[in-house]
Amino acid sequence: MRSTDLDQILEDTFLEISDSKQNYDPTIQFREMGIVKNISAGIATVTGLPGTGFEELLEFPNNLYGMAFNLDEDEIGVVLLGRNDQLQAGDPVLRTHRVADIPVGEGLIGRVVDSLGNPMDDKGPISFQHRYPIERPAPPIMSREAVNAPLQTGIKVIDAIIPIGRGQRELILGDRQTGKTSIAIDTILNQHDKNVLCIYCAIGQRTAAVATVISELQEKGAMDYTVVVFSEGNSSPGLQYLTPYAATSIAEYFMEQGRDVLIVYDDLTKHARAYRELSLLLRRPPGREAFPGDIFYIHSRLLERSTHLNASNGGGSLTALPIIETQAQDISAYIPTNIISITDGQIYLSPKLFELGLLPAVDIGKSVSRVGGKAQLGAYRKIAGNLKLAYAQSEELETFSRFGTRLDADTQKMIERGKRIRMIFKQPEMEPVSVPEQLLVLMALIHGIFDSVPLDKITTAENLIKKKSSQIPDALLRRIFASESLNEADEATIVSLAKDAIANLPELQNHE
Ligand code: ATP
Ligand code: MG
Repeated sequence: MRSTDLDQILEDTFLEISDSKQNYDPTIQFREMGIVKNISAGIATVTGLPGTGFEELLEFPNNLYGMAFNLDEDEIGVVLLGRNDQLQAGDPVLRTHRVADIPVGEGLIGRVVDSLGNPMDDKGPISFQHRYPIERPAPPIMSREAVNAPLQTGIKVIDAIIPIGRGQRELILGDRQTGKTSIAIDTILNQHDKNVLCIYCAIGQRTAAVATVISELQEKGAMDYTVVVFSEGNSSPGLQYLTPYAATSIAEYFMEQGRDVLIVYDDLTKHARAYRELSLLLRRPPGREAFPGDIFYIHSRLLERSTHLNASNGGGSLTALPIIETQAQDISAYIPTNIISITDGQIYLSPKLFELGLLPAVDIGKSVSRVGGKAQLGAYRKIAGNLKLAYAQSEELETFSRFGTRLDADTQKMIERGKRIRMIFKQPEMEPVSVPEQLLVLMALIHGIFDSVPLDKITTAENLIKKKSSQIPDALLRRIFASESLNEADEATIVSLAKDAIANLPELQNHE
């Protein structure tokens, strides 16, 4: 390099420095700093931050955050959102002037995240354009519309008798190990061609259980349209408490884009317990079953966010399937009754039916869908009424017949029909049944086509009938999906397809 070049560079650098010196405008940043006074499991008491707002995020050392929950005159009760083993009394605490938020957007689809949006899978950082606060107000009544489109679960008994509509909140409740999660997962699997995005929100669960669910979803290709939001059972109660709110914010983003979204909260019993733990540690007064007084409010605030938006707000919907675990079949305990009163119906799973192998163990008598009936496809309406009545009658008669009463032919026939209904409602996990298949089978059922099939051959007959779904005329299919009611000719077409399917069943001929 020649010396003149060097001189030039030096001169340029000097000019640059003096230039930036002129523009240098030192500002002092004020940050309010408090001190940790004491720590208990998942909670810290902080002093010296009088200006802190309710639910404001506070920053502790080692990248630990907390949420201001109790605002007293001279101290704050902070719910910690992470492990507190390194936190000590006397540690500094900084205000952040913001509330907890979470990344939302397309980048989350197919991902597994925790309650703060940190990735829990091995796919690297999440790409996102927006962050939403974890707590958001529910859409106002004026932006909502009645539930009017069905959300097909692919589970025959639910789609026929306890139908769910898009934007509805339907509780799934039952004792432990009665198939609650399976119903929710089957419903997610059935959305693969329905343009419904799904959020599976696992609250305070064992990592192994969630890993099993994720691998099932992956295997069936359902992670292509699903987000998993997850907090472990041994994570801080603060993180567990936030999980469903965070998952709902992710879902709301999609709903606001005009999409149909399904969210599963698995389960709100654990959520209520996490909140009880926090409240007791914060020394809030305990009420019934030691739950704090506002336990109803925290769940209604959450479930009110599920709705069907009207056309001027994009027409999106958020359907919620909250899950509750009952103890010893007590559906009148505090948390179950609370959630039953908040939701638009419930699917009750009975351990008795589970033991009998009648899976999914849906107890039809204790289950109801208060708004789904209006959204159900027209073709189902006649079937639903007929099956519900036939089932109830046969149950009653069956109880009666146990007393050794001699039964007349009609009664016997009703009992036999009831047994067949129960057999048809049996369905293995992860085998969703499509709408045309369901209509063929259920229509055959109410028209007595299964009456002559021996009980042990019902499943064979059902499978043969399902295969006929490809032969339903296109025009009829289109009308079915446009929710038109079926006329007599349509019914006859479907019934004759079903009849043809099992005409050659050898057992049928022997039986007759
Ligand atoms: P937990 O209380 O542990 O959360 P749960 O009520 O969510 O349990 P699941 O885990 O869904 O119940 O199911 C319990 C068991 O029943 C599982 O082993 C599952 O494979 C089985 N199961 C559920 N539904 C069916 C079905 N329709 N057919 C066959 N097996 C089923
Ligand atoms: Mg479960």
